[in-house]
Amino acid sequence: MERSSDELREKLRSVEENYRIIEENISKACEKSGRERKDVIFLAATKTVDPEVINHAISQGLRFIGENRAQELLSKYDRYDLENCELQFIGHLQSNKVRQIIDKVSLIQSVDSVKLANEVARQAKLHNKTMDILVEVNIGREENKSGVMPEQLDELLGKISEIDGIFVKGLMAIPPICEKKSEICKYFEDMHKIFIDISGKKSDNVSMDILSMGMSDDYEEAILCGANMVRVGSSLFGKRNYAK
Ligand SMILES: *Cc1c(COP(=O)(O)O)cnc(C)c1O
Repeated sequence: MERSSDELREKLRSVEENYRIIEENISKACEKSGRERKDVIFLAATKTVDPEVINHAISQGLRFIGENRAQELLSKYDRYDLENCELQFIGHLQSNKVRQIIDKVSLIQSVDSVKLANEVARQAKLHNKTMDILVEVNIGREENKSGVMPEQLDELLGKISEIDGIFVKGLMAIPPICEKKSEICKYFEDMHKIFIDISGKKSDNVSMDILSMGMSDDYEEAILCGANMVRVGSSLFGKRNYAK
């Protein structure tokens, strides 16, 4: 469907305003938690969003974007303006899709098995690179959700750290949907504790730099609980339209 130019102009304006509001909220949360603004990464989750809208957010200062489906990333790839912006992969990734994105992203946030780690490493080596990854933790221990169970994280990290071709830069989590802010904070705090525990252990190919958690409804809480990367979609781009 062709979008009218008025509609597009309106959309870009709202993205500009939302971008400013989110930036301000992130700054305040940084201040409250005794950190500097530069210590927290604002990544925009761009699923279903047109590249021209994404590029407008980049023109406002956005420096990180993340897609969560390989197919969508590929279909949009030529149209992102990535000169000043990093593209990352944030969704559940099937091993057979790794090949398609390995040369296009700077970080894969959602590695949760040795099998997937091996395939990422294998493809990275074919491209003569080391791929940075985060390990996704299923912090709510939800069935049918991706991520390694918290009690299996140590073992997984041990195995992954022996694989050549990948480097673990930190952890990522998507907590369960919670009614109350206090409930979700509990999960954020659990994640932060795990992150700090692992930071204290030295391991090859592992460096706990990034703790990626917090989305549109709770990114400020996540920062207060120790996140240093938040992934924000609908608060920036508006409600998603999956029908297109
Ligand atoms: C869509 C998505 C987000 C952002 O969700 P919003 O609630 O729209 O901010 C964050 N992380 C992942 C992995 C996503 O797929």
